[in-house]
Amino acid sequence: MPRLLQLALLGHPVLRQSAAEVADPGSVEIRELVDDMLFTMTDANGVGIAAPQVHVDKRVVIVASRPNPRYPDAPQMEPTAMINPEIIWRSDETCEGWEGCLSIPGIRGLVPRYKAIRIAYTTFDGTRVEQHFTDFVARVFQHEFDHLEGVSFLDRVVSTRDLMTEKEWLKRNV
Ligand code: ZN
Repeated sequence: MPRLLQLALLGHPVLRQSAAEVADPGSVEIRELVDDMLFTMTDANGVGIAAPQVHVDKRVVIVASRPNPRYPDAPQMEPTAMINPEIIWRSDETCEGWEGCLSIPGIRGLVPRYKAIRIAYTTFDGTRVEQHFTDFVARVFQHEFDHLEGVSFLDRVVSTRDLMTEKEWLKRNV
């Protein structure tokens, strides 16, 4: 049974460090971590989660866009676990979109991101996979990837005027 993990909240040092490479992607430890992260993310209505957000200093993220009460307009995709991910290509074009974070409850911010990216990551069986993401899913990936480098979306907001409470944001965007 997957376990509900405690979320690291803004201010915890684990969210401000560069996470460690995973040496053994197929280990039971990593599979259990991914199961627990997915369970914890789903419980919190997230569309992505990074291992540092559950106090684990490892380069593991899950991208799992789907419509939910926190992101009513999110596209549906299969949850994808990505080990040692990297961005291997970025579009010149950027776009702004509102983001939230399970580690920064109650706040939304308008964040510029690359509109399209090509990424690579390792699966449990050790295969290196490349994928192309655009728009919302590209945004989720870039947000989760930032967590592996100790960066939060607040660091990417251009002006503090681009911040809103989640309650106010939901009122304006549903
Ligand atoms: Zn986050």
